[in-house]
Amino acid sequence: MKKLVDEKALQQPHNHQLCMSQTLLSAEKICADQGMRLTAIRRRILELVCSSHKAIGAYELLDLFQEDDAKAKPVTIYRALDFLMEAGLVHKIESLNAFIGCMQAETKHQSVILICDACKSAFELDASSVYKTLFTMSEKTRFTPTSLTIELHGLCFSCS
Ligand SMILES: [Zn+2]
Ligand SMILES: [Zn+2]
Ligand SMILES: [Zn+2]
Repeated sequence: MKKLVDEKALQQPHNHQLCMSQTLLSAEKICADQGMRLTAIRRRILELVCSSHKAIGAYELLDLFQEDDAKAKPVTIYRALDFLMEAGLVHKIESLNAFIGCMQAETKHQSVILICDACKSAFELDASSVYKTLFTMSEKTRFTPTSLTIELHGLCFSCS
């Protein structure tokens, strides 16, 4: 199995251009494999989400997107985000109502998102064993689990 957290991404500073180009390559590959279209809008939104490892909100994205297209509306952003989430290229951070780019979209993963409350950086960590435990526990109560979101708040290495 591919390592789930790109350790280079956790180091600050690092060559973030590499993270970005890797994610865009993954996006092209995933879309080609699944017969989906990576339109210019979708690609631009992905670039904006992945421009840093910090969580970014939809309206922040709209502001940035409007630098290219002043007439863009929130629905433009939400539709592109829906597509990117469906493709596994972007994850929503529910507790912040914000988004991050996935650094390992080509690998199936069950992760916990670590969120720094000081700088809003967010990173994924493999948590498949936690998922397994919780799913098994819930099944024992005859509950049928479908999805699980785990978000861990705290301070990142640079901020602590
Ligand atoms: Zn990076
Ligand atoms: Zn991910
Ligand atoms: Zn931080």
